[in-house]
Amino acid sequence: MQKIKKFPRVDGDLGWFETSPNRDQHLGKRLKGEQSFDIAIIGAGYTGLSLAHRLAELNPTAKIALIEAMRVGQGTSGRNAGFIIDLPHNLDAGKPDIAHDHQLYRLNTFAIERLKYFKDKFNIDCNWHLAGKYMAAHESSNLSGLDSFAATLEACHFDYERVQGQALAKRLGTSYYQSAIYTPGNILMNPASLVRGVAAALPSNVSLFEQSPVVSCEYGAPNVIKVVGGTLRAHTLVLSANAYSEEFGQVANRLAPVFTYASLTEQLSDDDYQRHFKDVAAWGLTSAHPAGTTVRLTNDRRIFIRNVLDFEPTLQSTQEGLHSAWAQHRKSFEVRFPQLKKMIFDYTWGGMLCMTLNHESIFKKAADNVYVIGGCNGVGVAKGTYLGYYMADYINNVKSPDLEFILNHSNPSWVPPDPLRTLGARMRLKSESKTAGGDI
Ligand SMILES: Cc1cc2nc3c(=O)[nH]c(=O)nc-3n(C[C@H](O)[C@H](O)[C@H](O)COP(=O)(O)OP(=O)(O)OC[C@H]3O[C@@H](n4cnc5c(N)ncnc54)[C@H](O)[C@@H]3O)c2cc1C
Repeated sequence: MQKIKKFPRVDGDLGWFETSPNRDQHLGKRLKGEQSFDIAIIGAGYTGLSLAHRLAELNPTAKIALIEAMRVGQGTSGRNAGFIIDLPHNLDAGKPDIAHDHQLYRLNTFAIERLKYFKDKFNIDCNWHLAGKYMAAHESSNLSGLDSFAATLEACHFDYERVQGQALAKRLGTSYYQSAIYTPGNILMNPASLVRGVAAALPSNVSLFEQSPVVSCEYGAPNVIKVVGGTLRAHTLVLSANAYSEEFGQVANRLAPVFTYASLTEQLSDDDYQRHFKDVAAWGLTSAHPAGTTVRLTNDRRIFIRNVLDFEPTLQSTQEGLHSAWAQHRKSFEVRFPQLKKMIFDYTWGGMLCMTLNHESIFKKAADNVYVIGGCNGVGVAKGTYLGYYMADYINNVKSPDLEFILNHSNPSWVPPDPLRTLGARMRLKSESKTAGGDI
């Protein structure tokens, strides 16, 4: 029997969750007593939800259980920056290859269409808008990050625009950045509202159990999943617990969970908004440097800041970690928006990027009737959505070139065990942060 030792919890004040219009909607009950299902999924983030929807489409009479430790939207899927990215920074994942990049783009845009379908069909109020994305540099030394991104976009004939100096300042409402690459296909939204809306749209043959952390799994026929006060038996089990995947004993030495932090300001007053952002449309910006700051001006008039990278093998944040991230967020905010120093952050929280060393995800059959998906490398809104969808196809033997591509590119490289993993990761993150300079 595999006992789970590390559990997710709420790390800080979850800004998107707390400001979601569907925050108080009842979605799932706690798992109690003896239950039997055909298929069970552990983890109700974008990946587990996408999987559940597709499984239900393919198996309309199957009984499917989706088990979540917290409330949907309190996990990483509801804590992220809210970009659904069609063209991520690391598009080529270290393998500059035009056919490969086109295929990743196709999968990302498929995921965007799939989420848009849910958003439109079920009227999910999540501030969804096609805003595009800026990748920007403040430091001259980081302009090379923009050049290499532009070279990939150019080679693949993807649409993009270079925006610099005054023109960029006019579009952002801050003159902090020298130069940016704008790509038009990115979606911005409130990720907690969207993920909760996708959960609310589950069909009737999927039972959602919330606030039900799985404490052990016994793999076999059937798989036996235990929570406090409940036991669930299922013929097929899929683990989509992201950074917690290794806890379930079916994956080892593949994942590097990196803690990062975000803050969301109070809403801009009408006066500040008119003064500083009158003709500025809501925008989202990622950094040309991998350790740099992500920033958004939301269309409900808040400013979002994300930065600080720390390797956290305990898979939990500390008050000290949250406080020092808050202090860094203040610096990053005030240097970009000196005119808004008086604004406070209403929310500061932490969450985990589940990285792999070569950017390939885990997508595999781990044992008879046990499957694992994990390691979305910081782009899991789109990636988790398509991996979840195609995992359902894989289980149901529905073949396609897209599934074939995913299977051929799901070999994450080996990560050394602790303490080497922690030491190596902390050294690397520290040196990356140093070179980011004013882009943090
Ligand atoms: C601050 C931040 C900013 C980010 N920005 C972006 C962005 O803008 N765009 C983007 O695409 N990605 C972004 N990411 C990454 C993105 O959030 C993840 O890739 C995505 O959430 C992965 O989805 P998932 O469903 O695989 O995992 P998760 O969302 O982590 O879902 C896994 C679920 O498993 C549950 N679970 C774990 N253990 C158990 C257990 N024992 N029992 C039951 N349930 C359990 C967890 O509670 C969790 O809800 C960001 C991440 C962070 C932290």
